[in-house]
Amino acid sequence: MKWLSLYPGEHIYSGLIRYRIRMGQGVMSDKRFFAHNHLPYHWFRSQVPLNHLMRETLDSIAPDPDKQFALRLNHTPFAPWLLSLPDGMAPQELKEANHRPNTEENPFQVDRRWKYCPSCMQMQKAKWGVSYWRAAHQLPGALVCDEHGTPLHSHDALRYLNFTLPDKWEGTSTPVPMVDAWQVSWQPFIYAIARRLQCQPTWGVELRDSIYEVLKLSKPLRRGDRTVANALFAQMRSELGEACLAGLFTAYARQFTRPTNVLWITLSPFGQSKGLRHPLYWLAIVFWLKEQLPALKDEYENGVTTTL
Ligand SMILES: [Zn+2]
Repeated sequence: MKWLSLYPGEHIYSGLIRYRIRMGQGVMSDKRFFAHNHLPYHWFRSQVPLNHLMRETLDSIAPDPDKQFALRLNHTPFAPWLLSLPDGMAPQELKEANHRPNTEENPFQVDRRWKYCPSCMQMQKAKWGVSYWRAAHQLPGALVCDEHGTPLHSHDALRYLNFTLPDKWEGTSTPVPMVDAWQVSWQPFIYAIARRLQCQPTWGVELRDSIYEVLKLSKPLRRGDRTVANALFAQMRSELGEACLAGLFTAYARQFTRPTNVLWITLSPFGQSKGLRHPLYWLAIVFWLKEQLPALKDEYENGVTTTL
């Protein structure tokens, strides 16, 4: 795909959609489009930068490992996954989360529809003549634009992208609702975290280590730490609030009688699920401790005042 080009911050799938239009491949069937371009056939989802379909797509577009990493980092909402980087692994080596595609999103409550900012769309059209999907707007829990501070727009049909660009949705999309106080604080938080990880991909390891320090926990947690972890999680739950946990995790939204102890399954090596821990678990903990983590403090304060 040597004619594939991307605008700043454009999601890789958005680039593929524009490529298809530009190359006159819109008349092909979807299946034929993928086969013709040596891409795996799949439906474009907004928040799965590490599943095997994205890996195969990037393998086909950019076999060079450095280029591939830059694409994933800057053109998908991958940055928070660097919080889940296994100890001793280089960020460039993180290419797949080993989750089954149909189960990887199930425990999470955040809105996974594709989102765009109407102001960004107008600017893109004025500047480039086309609109495109920005990767940052697909970050988990993002509801307002990081540049304009205005509500992002979406539509129920945008669960999958279906080869459309944002301007196609003008007039039919609606602003995504932001109803809870935690969601307001989450906006500068998620953008600041992602931006810092894009600049310094190994920072996630530092941030993660500081969680153990602030909570005075051993790394890794031992089975005997369970009681302490339970008490800390009770504190986390009460300080974050039920609305926040319910907005992030399905187990809390559906009021399971024994919902996951987020702290324990994230910090201990005894979690039940195989594969990489989803970054939403780490993000929930970092969000809880955002005013106490030394690794976060400067970045967070700078980022908040300059962008929102
Ligand atoms: Zn915008």
